[in-house]
Amino acid sequence: MIIAHTIKDLESFFEAHSGVQIGFVPTMGALHKGHLSLVKSAKQHSDVVVVSIFVNPLQFNDPADFKKYPVTIESDISLLTDTQCDLLFLPSYDEVYPAGFSSVVLPLDNIDNILEGASRKGHFDGVVQVLHRLFSIVSPTHAFFGLKDFQQCLVVKKLCDAFFPSIQLHFLPTMRMESGLAMSSRNTRLSEEGLNRAAAISKTLFAIKSLMNAYPPDAVADILKNKLSAFVDSIDYLVIVDPQTLSPILSWDSNKNYIILTAVFIEGVRLIDNFEF
Ligand code: AMP
Repeated sequence: MIIAHTIKDLESFFEAHSGVQIGFVPTMGALHKGHLSLVKSAKQHSDVVVVSIFVNPLQFNDPADFKKYPVTIESDISLLTDTQCDLLFLPSYDEVYPAGFSSVVLPLDNIDNILEGASRKGHFDGVVQVLHRLFSIVSPTHAFFGLKDFQQCLVVKKLCDAFFPSIQLHFLPTMRMESGLAMSSRNTRLSEEGLNRAAAISKTLFAIKSLMNAYPPDAVADILKNKLSAFVDSIDYLVIVDPQTLSPILSWDSNKNYIILTAVFIEGVRLIDNFEF
């Protein structure tokens, strides 16, 4: 695996691989099997796989959260080598955001004001800026994202519709631990007791199937919030919404798909998960 720190290094790699299909997996590192599932899928759909690791300060509304973000670069390199990633792009801040860099403006139709966007002001704008830069630098044919960050997938879709229509997007299912807990780099900040409590998050979301025949959506959300609050320190949101628009559901319609999304805090760590049904 080649490790490129600069755009110049990347360009030499791309010159040597002109005309090939490039599969791109942008990450913030502290890699786990969820990330690796994206790399494996990229391998199946492209000739060369590029993974980036860049902890993007622009998408953290809380500087303390940015500082605490886990960095495990040696282990990341070893995992990527084993997964047959072809190139790891490991840029500095200045490489991604050079002096004079001008940000892009992308209307997000309110997605950036609700749920993750409401709780983490500026988060999705930061995501838009970094992906716009990375897509411009890497020029991928395919790009791979996890549905765990469901709202982010909607933002990525809008970004590509507006600026990169030729990139083929792949949104992949959430990889989970045996307990059902969605894998996340942030899980490394939880104690064993915290990890045990966090297993209740997905169990609560999956329980929706057994409740939806008996109660309307708002009552189901209340029951599940109540259940989950026994395990987590606080619930930021737990909502049942339309997966396309993220607008609330007033009644069930057997012809439609729904998604339940939640964000909770355990031991000061913010964890998100969702379940489409
Ligand atoms: P991150 O490093 O957290 O920015 O994540 C990089 C990519 O990995 C994003 O597209 C995430 O949605 C995806 N991802 C994170 N956790 C998981 C998981 N448990 N299963 C599948 N994909 C994931």
